[in-house]
Amino acid sequence: MRRFFVPPEWIEEGQASIRGEMAHRITQVLRMSQGDRVVLLDGTGSEYMVRLDEFGKHAVAGTVLAVSQGSTEPSIRITLCQGILKADKLEWVLQKGTELGVSAFIPLICQRSIPRFKSTKGSQRMLRWGRIITEAAEQCGRSRVPDLSPPLEFRSACRSVDGASLALIPWEGARDASLKEALKGHNTSQVYLFIGPEGGFQEEEVEYAQGLGIIPVSLGKRILRAETAGLVAATAVLYEAGDLEG
Ligand code: SAM
Repeated sequence: MRRFFVPPEWIEEGQASIRGEMAHRITQVLRMSQGDRVVLLDGTGSEYMVRLDEFGKHAVAGTVLAVSQGSTEPSIRITLCQGILKADKLEWVLQKGTELGVSAFIPLICQRSIPRFKSTKGSQRMLRWGRIITEAAEQCGRSRVPDLSPPLEFRSACRSVDGASLALIPWEGARDASLKEALKGHNTSQVYLFIGPEGGFQEEEVEYAQGLGIIPVSLGKRILRAETAGLVAATAVLYEAGDLEG
């Protein structure tokens, strides 16, 4: 069944009012009709099964048939701080990370980030990234849209780590520090992962992070592409947390 994230105020007293671009999508693109059912998600974790009743020019009205709490959100909150990559690669990370169960994304501006993030196009890019994440969350059955931060300078992102969390920085230089071991010692429900851009981290960036308690870890003997590394690290954390079980 089709799932759509909507603003919570669109659902009131057992009635749903779908507007704007989403109403257009339902009527013109998906060609849904009276009596069809959809699931509306208000972003707080609630899921509303809705029957579509009335099709207007700019709005579709429906009746809420059932309300339930989503059960697909991961038990562990992963914040993926990903060095900014070329546009298509970063978008791929946002989409696949959402499917996997990443809860928040922070695009990182690192010393070796290419291309440099241009603030003039920043808001358009944020909108596009937000759409990619929302559509991926709808498609894979999540009941919350992952948070998306505007790009942050590496050092600011390091300082933003919440003290109760475990923060890891996969780095090729951390040959003997296993991700599994780092996870074992911590009973935390929140993990930050810092991944470098295509050219990797500068050693002084890793030292800075380490000074703030962020732990360098290895992702194995092979060097992974930057867009692979974040997803592999997130998958490993979810696996260790038991979140990839049925
Ligand atoms: N600096 C490297 C080079 O130019 O050969 C490559 C950097 S790699 C493409 C990008 C990022 O992925 C790194 O900054 C690191 O965070 C992560 N990464 C890739 N392979 C890794 C590994 N085997 N162990 C730990 N981190 C890895």
